[in-house]
Amino acid sequence: MDLEGKTAVVTGASRGIGRATALYLSRAGASVVINYSSNQAAAEEVRDIILSEGGAAEIFKADVTDYSQSEGLIQGAIDQFKRIDILINNAGITRDNLLARMKAEEWQEVIDTNLNGVYNCCRAVLRPLLKQKSGGRIINVASVAGIHGNAGQANYAAAKGGVIAFTRTLAKELGSRNISVNAVAPGFIETEMTARLSDQVKEQAVDRISLGRLGKPEDVAEVILFLASSSGYVTGQVIPVDGCLVM
Ligand code: NAP
Repeated sequence: MDLEGKTAVVTGASRGIGRATALYLSRAGASVVINYSSNQAAAEEVRDIILSEGGAAEIFKADVTDYSQSEGLIQGAIDQFKRIDILINNAGITRDNLLARMKAEEWQEVIDTNLNGVYNCCRAVLRPLLKQKSGGRIINVASVAGIHGNAGQANYAAAKGGVIAFTRTLAKELGSRNISVNAVAPGFIETEMTARLSDQVKEQAVDRISLGRLGKPEDVAEVILFLASSSGYVTGQVIPVDGCLVM
């Protein structure tokens, strides 16, 4: 998998799945822009690992809920590395609650980050990608919750379901320009996002996973790397990465 000469932007790359993805893309040869919203020290750590391995990387603070900051992120990547080829929309949050108890802010924050953030970054990357005329790869990190639903996550499932529909639509709009748009749908992955869940919830999840273990960020990153480095003929697809949690 050769990404030499390509530039990738990974949103939410300071931790978890985004961090693993940034490292995988760099090891395949891409120059990587590590986006974060608040955790600068963690983003710098990812950058320093890449630089120590001889790769090229820069950090970029931007809140993907804000269109002008998302535009700044894409422009920052172009200013730094002269081009943009790959966008990984990974930034995401949870604000879990049963709907009866869900506050309007909990709904809005999740929609703003997980759905509107994907719109913002895709919208911002389109013009430069089309201007470059060399195709592109967009990979959105959805969730199995967006396919099957999950009690306590109406906000999250709605956002991720929206990301899946958005992915399929954008793939149809951009196919003729050799810009592929795909989604991965992780199941239960061990990151800070899931660290706060109780041991009981984790054990119940493991019981339902055919592989008998929770996923690792690298399990998702390697699928993203495949999509980012493929010929582009796989497009408009949603690939579950869940150890057969749901089927
Ligand atoms: P994580 O460890 O909590 O990391 C989240 C990342 O998103 C951090 O880098 C964070 O940056 C960034 N972020 C949050 N809000 C942002 C914003 N407004 N603008 C820019 N960056 C923002 O999460 P994760 O588990 O790796 O999840 C990554 C993606 O996978 C998310 O889309 C999540 O929904 C999805 N996913 C995860 C699982 C799972 O089991 N973990 C399952 C299915 C799907 P800062 O730290 O700088 O704020």
